[in-house]
Amino acid sequence: MPIKIIIEKCTGCSLCIKACPFDAIRILDKKASIDLNKCNLCGACVEACKLKAILLEKPQPIPLAKDIKDYKDIWVFIEQKNSKIQPVSYELLGKAQELAKKLSCQVVGVLLGYNLDDQLDELIWRGADSIILVDSEKLANFQDEPYTNVLVKLINKYKPEILLCGATAIGRALISRVAVKIKAGLTADCTGLDIDPERKILLQTRPAFGGNIMATIISPDYRPQMATVRHKVMQPMEPDKKRKGKVIREVFDNSSYTSRARLVEIIEEVESLVNLAEADIIVSGGRGMGRAENFRLLEELARVLGGAVGASRAAVDAGWMPYSHQIGQTGRTVSPKIYIACGISGQIQHLVGMQSSKIIVAINKDPFAPIFKVATYGIVGDLFQIVPALTKRFKELKAKGR
Ligand SMILES: Cc1cc2nc3c(=O)[nH]c(=O)nc-3n(C[C@H](O)[C@H](O)[C@H](O)COP(=O)(O)OP(=O)(O)OC[C@H]3O[C@@H](n4cnc5c(N)ncnc54)[C@H](O)[C@@H]3O)c2cc1C
Repeated sequence: MPIKIIIEKCTGCSLCIKACPFDAIRILDKKASIDLNKCNLCGACVEACKLKAILLEKPQPIPLAKDIKDYKDIWVFIEQKNSKIQPVSYELLGKAQELAKKLSCQVVGVLLGYNLDDQLDELIWRGADSIILVDSEKLANFQDEPYTNVLVKLINKYKPEILLCGATAIGRALISRVAVKIKAGLTADCTGLDIDPERKILLQTRPAFGGNIMATIISPDYRPQMATVRHKVMQPMEPDKKRKGKVIREVFDNSSYTSRARLVEIIEEVESLVNLAEADIIVSGGRGMGRAENFRLLEELARVLGGAVGASRAAVDAGWMPYSHQIGQTGRTVSPKIYIACGISGQIQHLVGMQSSKIIVAINKDPFAPIFKVATYGIVGDLFQIVPALTKRFKELKAKGR
């Protein structure tokens, strides 16, 4: 047990109970007793105990990667679903190329799947200098254990300096397992990546403390440096059909593909039906919409413009829109050509999910609403007058064929 009470020393004074932030200690038979389901081994009780009656085993330090200099190149985990490469992979390849120039290294796409040969050229055109391909029917669909086993083996063999992965359902499930197995750090949900010009290490920026600050995280002592990035945060490279690259094919024996879980059926996510991530125009509503029925105004505007409807968390929490429409730190990240924010104040947690949109139109009755700081065009006024007027005007223009 990592923490225990030394019964002979404990007098049941309950100082430890007051010190415990997790309400994990009780007095039973005049002795302290720790509920390990609640305790997070923070050590506050150990410091509070004047009789030194609590023993906390210090966790073993993770040994540093011995030969950091042996690690080279930037890897991008290429995500595929139903044998189709996912757009986030192209976005990461584009970013990886930018970083590779600063490190003078190569960009390697790592692709696990089945029957994907027809998509290899596209990966090279869009930024991969080479591809490591593991082509097996057993990898046709993502499964945690086989994918983790294979990726860990590849990392141990080739030693990449940096590994980037989409912060998608697959990426999140896979890369956290990999990080634990190879004892490397992992920065999830990055919104910015760069290279420290002096130390040549990866600078991983992401919102922290509820999105109130942007934290830049480094992993100087372990390799690979690993980060996940959401879809639509980075820009893909324009395909360059003159680019050439090599394909390294790796083969593993059946033991690498064993899994304790059995894939029974694949059911399409409800969220993907909303298609927010792919929409060119998004009309989003916040608390200013007042009630669920009023979202019909936004649906009408979105329909005329051929767009999708999004929402702030306030609108989702109020039950006016389903969670699959939520945009922001704990919702989706979007980057449409036009984002129209209606009755949304523009708190940082919302902005991180939409501020890379090309044009932002903000409609808000408060001229000091923070959304206006990121807006390309700001309309100060009542959305209940402005939105129907916009819908009417766009309908007229459409009728005239413009
Ligand atoms: C850990 C964490 C994660 C979060 N994740 C997210 C997230 O993913 N997405 C997200 O959106 N938020 C998120 N939030 C919540 C975020 O902090 C804000 O509370 C939320 O974005 C506010 O939503 P809102 O702008 O719709 O509401 P408000 O801040 O209440 O703003 C409503 C706006 O509507 C305007 N308004 C009212 N009536 C009208 C009218 N008739 N015409 C025009 N304008 C009008 C008001 O002037 C006001 O600016 C998160 C918070 C935390 C702590």
